[in-house]
Amino acid sequence: MASVKESLWDPVAGFGVTFRTMFRKVFTEQYPFDKKPTAPRFHGRHQLNRWPDGLEKCIGCELCAWACPADAIYVEGADNTVDSAGGSARYSPGERYGSVYQINYLRCILCGLCIEACPTRALTMTNEYELADRSRESLIYEKKDLLAPLLPGMQEPPHEMLLGTTDKDYYRGLTGAAVPAEGGAEQ
Ligand code: SF4
Ligand code: SF4
Repeated sequence: MASVKESLWDPVAGFGVTFRTMFRKVFTEQYPFDKKPTAPRFHGRHQLNRWPDGLEKCIGCELCAWACPADAIYVEGADNTVDSAGGSARYSPGERYGSVYQINYLRCILCGLCIEACPTRALTMTNEYELADRSRESLIYEKKDLLAPLLPGMQEPPHEMLLGTTDKDYYRGLTGAAVPAEGGAEQ
């Protein structure tokens, strides 16, 4: 049998919470018209970064895909090629580049383990968080969706290495070029 406290006092106390809340100032977030900036290191949409000459930092090693606990990343690597006439189909310094790169945002939990695994800082995360959409297909981001935009002074690959003669010049920072901001978290 319910005690006097349970049958009389507890309901009154419950309504007390209701009444207190009724007279509080209403605070409504005006999203999406008023977007609050995220914390600087917020983990949002990924970005595939470039070197200052426009070449891609991704070498197609797949370490990000192996590190992903949600199996959200798919990578295929391919060889950069240089023909006998000196012409090249080079997308990154060194031997290999990521020819196919996909992130499935239906699976991704934005944990950041992939960017920790990346040996070249090719993969970082931006602060962009608006990743909802109406179809499953549109939430599988392809390489073209993830690649950083070309900044002034960059050339669209394929092209030869413009900042050094070997990939080591790039990876050892011997290019002398200012490295553009990668944008977003985990710089
Ligand atoms: S953030 Fe986490 S879940 Fe998303 S792709 Fe990277 S490792 Fe996978
Ligand atoms: S993003 Fe980084 S870890 Fe992933 S394939 Fe490219 S270089 Fe390797």
